Amino acid sequence: MSFTFFTRDKSKTSVDYAAMADRIGDLESVLSATREDSAVARINQAQGQPVEVGDYAARLLAQALKLCEVTGGALDITAYPAVKAWGFTTEEHRVPSGEELAELADRIDYTAVRLEGNTVTLPAGMEIDLGAVAKGYAGDWLAQDTRNGGIHTTSALLDLGQSTIVGIGTKPDGSPWRIGVRDPEGEGYFGVVELADMAMGTSGGYQRFFEQDGVTYWHILDPDTAAPARSGLASVTVVAPSALTCDGLSTALFVMGLEKGAQFWRDHPELEFEAIFVTEEGGISCTAGLTDRFSLAGGYEDREVTVLK
Ligand code: AMP
Ligand code: MG
Repeated sequence: MSFTFFTRDKSKTSVDYAAMADRIGDLESVLSATREDSAVARINQAQGQPVEVGDYAARLLAQALKLCEVTGGALDITAYPAVKAWGFTTEEHRVPSGEELAELADRIDYTAVRLEGNTVTLPAGMEIDLGAVAKGYAGDWLAQDTRNGGIHTTSALLDLGQSTIVGIGTKPDGSPWRIGVRDPEGEGYFGVVELADMAMGTSGGYQRFFEQDGVTYWHILDPDTAAPARSGLASVTVVAPSALTCDGLSTALFVMGLEKGAQFWRDHPELEFEAIFVTEEGGISCTAGLTDRFSLAGGYEDREVTVLK
């Protein structure tokens, strides 16, 4: 992660770095699937027994489950056994058999997660993974900490890594932050999004994948099949006030594909998001609310952008 803060008066830096480090520590103690004492790890080891988690973890879980529900399960935090079976947690990649995938898909069902107060119950054999929303959570909390830090930090850029970014305020000169959107096919940026008090997140098959026998397998799975989501998309970028929305929805829209994703956008104005879709053929579509904030980058000016209405 890298955070950049601008202050007008160097002597009055009011960023509380210690508080931000504490916040990241708190998040890790909840989210880390590999740290044995994390809330997520304790839930995954419970074998059907109820687990008491802290307020913080309960809140995070409630928000993640809400996103699973609103996306009709395109986002599903119980995909973890499948993510592991493909080797994405250890980098020891393998292609599970059709039979194994059918069995894994049966075990993906976020509606089986019970959250009552601070008690989480997960059926034995199921495991959760907040990897699709973790950067977003972190972004929203850290943005709140930064904003609460006072008037000297109204200009900041929080880069959570792995394509999640929060622009707080504007650049010090009052102009919006300009953030590049990665070309899923190359190293460069095909477009630029202007952000002012906005977050942005991208999910794409190019971010984590492996190849076997000439086939590419990526880390975003379709909960219906437990296999990499092949919706015809190469990447989805979401722009919204909340980084959690950006992170969760970019993963979910990647699973849905262009047509269903565009309809989801039309159906959910309350989520206050806009999106840029790139298909595997390189077609670019953006939702109508982005037309004055999104432009093609140098070298990509001849590409056509379809505006979704
Ligand atoms: P992101 O990079 O935010 O798109 O999240 C992808 C990560 O979320 C993967 O590395 C998996 O750990 C996990 N994941 C994969 N597919 C899904 C899915 N359909 N719903 C929820 N989490 C998923
Ligand atoms: Mg995500």
